[in-house]
Amino acid sequence: MDPIRIAVVGVGKIARDQHLPAIAGTPAFSLAATVSPDHRGPDDSIAHLESLEELLDKGPAIDAVALCTPPQVRYGLAAMALRRGIHVFMEKPPGATLSEVAALRERADKVGVTLFAAWHSRFAAGVAPARAWLSERRITNVSIIWREDVRVWHPGQAWIWEPGGLGVFDPGINALSILTHILPRAVFLKTATLGIPANRAAPIAADLALCDTTGAPIHMDLDWRQTGPQSWDIIVETDAGTLRLSQGGAVLSLPSGTEHNEDLEYPGLYSRFANLIRGGRSDVDIDPLRLVADAFLRGRRESVEAFYD
Ligand code: NAP
Repeated sequence: MDPIRIAVVGVGKIARDQHLPAIAGTPAFSLAATVSPDHRGPDDSIAHLESLEELLDKGPAIDAVALCTPPQVRYGLAAMALRRGIHVFMEKPPGATLSEVAALRERADKVGVTLFAAWHSRFAAGVAPARAWLSERRITNVSIIWREDVRVWHPGQAWIWEPGGLGVFDPGINALSILTHILPRAVFLKTATLGIPANRAAPIAADLALCDTTGAPIHMDLDWRQTGPQSWDIIVETDAGTLRLSQGGAVLSLPSGTEHNEDLEYPGLYSRFANLIRGGRSDVDIDPLRLVADAFLRGRRESVEAFYD
């Protein structure tokens, strides 16, 4: 079977760190081109264009795109690719609004191509076994602590502070993607407080109270002002003891012991994308983005100290 010819659109941090190596390591794909308006591609032997429109007009021919841009421009790029019958992989979050993601889903179904809303944290090593273990438990309490230093992880990323950039929910949505995947029941938001720096449009911190449909409380503590040790932990208390996912889902601790497994998030995503394309299917789960939208819809906004990079 011929490899799927893919272009990476948006050659920023995540494209360089994860997408390009994962594509190089997945025989189902061959990298056909890269697209970025201001930066050159990473490899002179691969065609590089300044816009997706230019690539689609001039070639080289492609079968799929991976959209690794900020979310605010995702819809226009995805719609343009779908119109040409090209399969689309969307980095998280899949869009800047829920309604644009729904419109893309409808268009992909209509034209019969694959649309994949990728949630990379769901492919972290501990997540699938955590989901299997929790499927048989009664959950009594969940605590999410997602505290990192924005200056370390998002230096100079102006888009992240703009409307649609999500602020601290840019990493926080990864925790929500794990939560909605491992818990056996639906989850919804009860209250939220969003701390928004006086000079920015998006939150630097958030405190969320959620619950599942049995009423089990879920507390989420998100903060970008963390210096020193960083936390990406989800702790689930159950009738059979405590489950702990740490390091963003990579390490799983159960009452029986702790498992550390190799990080295969992006190879896992590309393998899934290839299977979806070969099977003629899409995978567009909006649950994590919906919870973030609910936090913006229902949250109380508090102005906090201005933030400078
Ligand atoms: P980034 O470093 O700011 O890179 C974004 C890239 O998108 C830039 O290189 C920019 O190109 C390009 N771009 C902007 N508008 C474009 C357009 N219209 N057409 C083509 N390219 C365009 O951001 P990032 O950290 O890689 O994040 C990108 C996405 O991946 C976000 O949705 C983020 O949530 C997600 N993500 C990030 C991480 C992470 O650790 N950083 C992890 C997982 C997922 P120029 O530089 O050429 O202007």
